[in-house]
Amino acid sequence: MKHPHVTQDQSAVNRRDFITRTALSAGALALLGVQPSLAGNGLQSAANTYTVQDVIELILKEGKLQVIPNTVDTIKAGSPGQTVTGIVTTMFTTTAVIEQAAQLNANFIIAHEPTFYNHTDNPAWVPGNAVVKQKQQLLEKYNMAVWRFHDYCHALKPDAISYGVVQQMNWQAWYKQGDVVLTIPQLSLQQLVNQLKQALHIAHVRVIGNLEQPCSRIALLPGAWGGVRQVTIAETQIPDVLVVGEVSEWETAEYIRDAHSMGKKTALVILGHAQSEEPGMAYVANWLQPKLNGITVTHIASGSPFTWV
Ligand SMILES: [Zn+2]
Repeated sequence: MKHPHVTQDQSAVNRRDFITRTALSAGALALLGVQPSLAGNGLQSAANTYTVQDVIELILKEGKLQVIPNTVDTIKAGSPGQTVTGIVTTMFTTTAVIEQAAQLNANFIIAHEPTFYNHTDNPAWVPGNAVVKQKQQLLEKYNMAVWRFHDYCHALKPDAISYGVVQQMNWQAWYKQGDVVLTIPQLSLQQLVNQLKQALHIAHVRVIGNLEQPCSRIALLPGAWGGVRQVTIAETQIPDVLVVGEVSEWETAEYIRDAHSMGKKTALVILGHAQSEEPGMAYVANWLQPKLNGITVTHIASGSPFTWV
């Protein structure tokens, strides 16, 4: 779920951190002791051909994923039988991501979040939506397939999204699969915010809480978990801070505000939905790349849709 334009600095970081490539140079192959015949034509002929459906099935198989009934993880554009020329992972299939994917000669976007602005990607969510129509035309122009990888992505073990954020924060030592609360070495809320902004490339976050307060128990809830789950975790696990992608302001934010006025200490940090889960889709690119032969998987950060004024 990241959008149009990232800053120069951010795009450089994204390129460095997130882009994975299969192509090996002749020099690299020589170092690996690969015969020239294999490094030349052999490498190409050894490359497999995959359809969109093949890639989806490979992901389900490699992820040991059970079929999820009524999943929103369906093909949103293109056809299952089309041959894949390259893959892009992202949070949101923005028009900028579509253009960048086409420039990379990729025709398959694996996106975590909806393409057409509602959970089931119903193009008639708002009937006669001109933006939906134009986006469909753009996708058709590039023969771009789009598959949503949301329910299955969170069903991976570990959850690819949470684990991607954990890796990006360098919190692996404190991550326990299945636990949303990590106990990290104590730091102040201000220090935590600084680390989140730096590691996740976020310019601004919204905070409720005392910036001096100590934080150790971090409830890591990237994306949109919803008010019930966010407040349930606050009530039952009493973390020092909820780190979330987004909230309904009238639910979790007001709960935290009242809780603080009653002397409770659980703080709230709102990262922004897209940026909070983006490391997860970068992780997916790195996870998927070695499973494919002859197809390049590139992560493109869709970024935040907002301008701060
Ligand atoms: Zn998610």
